[in-house]
Amino acid sequence: MAGVRIRGLHKTYNRTDAVCGIDIDIADGEFVVLVGPSGCGKSTTLRMIAGLEEITKGEIFIDDRLVNHVQPKDRDIAMVFQHYALYPHLTARENMSFGLRMRGYAKDEIKTRVTEAAGFLNIAELLDRRPGQLSGGERQRVAMGRAIVREPSVCLFDEPLSNLDAKLRVKMRTEIKRLHHKVKTTSIYVTHDQVEAMTLAERIVIMNAGRIEQVGTPDEIYLHPKTKFVAGFIGSPAMNFLHCRLAKEGSGLTISLIGGGPSLPVPTALTGRYSPYLGKDLVLGIRPEHIKECPDQGGAQAGFVEIDIKIDVVEPLGMDTLLYFSIGDTEVCARVSPDVARGPGEIMPLMAEMNKMHLIDPDTGTVL
Ligand code: ADP
Repeated sequence: MAGVRIRGLHKTYNRTDAVCGIDIDIADGEFVVLVGPSGCGKSTTLRMIAGLEEITKGEIFIDDRLVNHVQPKDRDIAMVFQHYALYPHLTARENMSFGLRMRGYAKDEIKTRVTEAAGFLNIAELLDRRPGQLSGGERQRVAMGRAIVREPSVCLFDEPLSNLDAKLRVKMRTEIKRLHHKVKTTSIYVTHDQVEAMTLAERIVIMNAGRIEQVGTPDEIYLHPKTKFVAGFIGSPAMNFLHCRLAKEGSGLTISLIGGGPSLPVPTALTGRYSPYLGKDLVLGIRPEHIKECPDQGGAQAGFVEIDIKIDVVEPLGMDTLLYFSIGDTEVCARVSPDVARGPGEIMPLMAEMNKMHLIDPDTGTVL
């Protein structure tokens, strides 16, 4: 196994800048997910690490060895693709053994490694089948088996679950996580799916337009997004954004919403942090899960603000229910318990958990 260090990585195709200066340090044994919208440069970055794409500028080190000009086969990496890339005429066992045979491993060693990987992946009974006799999920497991039998320094995953149906994707996600706990191979995983990123990653790298927006653990990214892009990208439904201005009220601060709606007092704990922005045009960010039903008793709690809303659309999800409504001219989403949700057109009091709010500079997109 090995760490990966990336310095000032650029990729330009003709005149298109696909990757514009990326620096990442990935520790030995770490599971890092590159996530971002389609076209943000994730696959290009991964392919440069694999050696499948030439580097325009910058350096990639695997285990302190500069690999810019090392052939893919000599980088000691394995790759799992969205299209499983299995040989259709070979059995699962032969597909998993193929790379080891090519590298001249002894038969017994190959057998031991394939049996062990098949055990990890729950495919021991399927080893004599060809890809055409396997389901999509089983084929992807064989493709992962083929990667791990090599015991590579680094395993690269390029959207490996995108071809599977939603239920299987969730199951495979858990299996990949369990597998990583067992084998601890340094892993770099590309996806556009923020839930996959949050659930799988030890650290997430959020990319946007060829650049890194933020690197952090799933908790850091969710609780302390550094930019509006990250705040809006992670979390489903997405964070609500409302244009606002900060005003002074007594010794404290209050948020006045530009599109109309109630004034929202800023919790005392946050006044010091936000007072430099008094009078400036800002964006208030608050997640749907931080606007919820009022407690049965006990009245207002510190840091919570009660607002009366008129429900527009109700979306039951089973475990909780999403309510859509307007505050001034902005559509807002709240996540409430299903047993308290009322119907469209009804008025309902909700609590906004202002301790969890974010204020964003609309010019720079920075979370303040
Ligand atoms: P992602 O994996 O995040 O969806 P990619 O890394 O595939 O994004 O692509 C990043 C950008 O580079 C996109 O604008 C894409 O159109 C462009 N791009 C990717 N591959 C090529 C190529 N072979 N030739 C020209 N442009 C490319």
